Amino acid sequence: MRILLIEDEQKTAAFLSKGLREAGFSVDVAADGEAGLEQAISARHDLLIVDVMLPKKDGWTVVEELRGGGAQMPILFLTARDSVRDRVKGLELGADDYLVKPFAFSELMARVRSLLRRSPVRQEEHLHVEDLEIDTRRHTATRGGVPLNLTPKEFTLLAQLARSGGEVVSRTEIVEQVWDIDLESQTNVVDVMVRRLRAKVDDPFEKKLVQTIRGVGYALRAD
Ligand code: CA
Repeated sequence: MRILLIEDEQKTAAFLSKGLREAGFSVDVAADGEAGLEQAISARHDLLIVDVMLPKKDGWTVVEELRGGGAQMPILFLTARDSVRDRVKGLELGADDYLVKPFAFSELMARVRSLLRRSPVRQEEHLHVEDLEIDTRRHTATRGGVPLNLTPKEFTLLAQLARSGGEVVSRTEIVEQVWDIDLESQTNVVDVMVRRLRAKVDDPFEKKLVQTIRGVGYALRAD
């Protein structure tokens, strides 16, 4: 497993990369946003850890550009600013989770392991909705045989909607399932995530599956 750490504070970068290497990961380190983006594009990584405040290009821009280019590896944000707006902004741009500095190394490891956990022990299932097929064991989704490039969070959301068998899933349920963190309910992170999911699952196809149930939530079914 290879991790890219984009962090400009030398002490933090050294401490984190040492700990991650001891835990058995190979770790690349970039000290600014531009270098980080370059490394993320030029080599395959299983996970990115991105500090928000970075020289040359901030962490938000790095993530936005990576996701815009179709990158789908899990991304963990490190932020020193514990404001809801900052945390949510990262998630909206396509990060999968965040940690507020300062944090214990064990906390980071827990997030890293959870993001890298590709196959939940219990589940081995195939989900179908029309021509959409989801394999939760392999973590793959296709529509009409075409593979969908989903981020881990997008995949979790799609599987959650598919499991509900066409019934409505509320925003609160989505937040609980997709982000196991406290997000204030007035944030529009769910809507942003659904928009990203739609762009991949529905936009290229004629038949739309992701339905908005106004004021309630979302459902996955043919119109
Ligand atoms: Ca920084």
